[in-house]
Amino acid sequence: MLIEMHAHTIDGSDCSEVSLEDTVTRLIEKGYDGVLVTDHESETGYKNYRSKHDSLTDFVVLRGFEVSTCHGDMLVVLPLSKTLLDIEEVKEQCIHPLELVRIVHERDGVIGIAHMFRDRYGCIGNQVKSTEELERIVQAVDFIEVVNGFASRHLNEKAEKWANRFGKAKTCGSDSHSIDAVGTCGTVFSMQIRSEEDLISAIRSKLIVNP
Ligand SMILES: [Zn+2]
Ligand SMILES: [Zn+2]
Repeated sequence: MLIEMHAHTIDGSDCSEVSLEDTVTRLIEKGYDGVLVTDHESETGYKNYRSKHDSLTDFVVLRGFEVSTCHGDMLVVLPLSKTLLDIEEVKEQCIHPLELVRIVHERDGVIGIAHMFRDRYGCIGNQVKSTEELERIVQAVDFIEVVNGFASRHLNEKAEKWANRFGKAKTCGSDSHSIDAVGTCGTVFSMQIRSEEDLISAIRSKLIVNP
């Protein structure tokens, strides 16, 4: 199954100009089987879509989050019964990556590092103070986004080296904020994914066909 693992929506992210409806239509045209909606500390885009469309279609729409920590962005998938939006530090974007990892695992979810080295700011690979701290964070997460649609090939490769070194699951996502960026890269899973729980276990078991 080909899943877009990093997509923003106009309803859930101030920085996005594309609706989830248009994103889904474009992804279906491009042969994708699903999308993980990863708005910034918001599930509004996902919820608005769900209120209008039932979940019994072949194309699967899943709820995720992109969460800004004190050192950069992380991607989170939780069972639908759990949320992160009740945590003050998450709303204020001042949570430490390791604390977020602890909370996500406590809530039965998985967590990864987004665009690890892409920008000077907002990227964990460039923001933590020491190599030791970076190693601790990489060790603690479940996956690393090794292809981000807006990172250079060189910086994506750098992220992939870290994923390989620590044996982490590797994901690819467009990080789309506009229709042109939708479906520039996705992640191929070797199991059927129909729910957030399926995606969580696929990532835990690394049932990913490497890019
Ligand atoms: Zn980001
Ligand atoms: Zn993003």
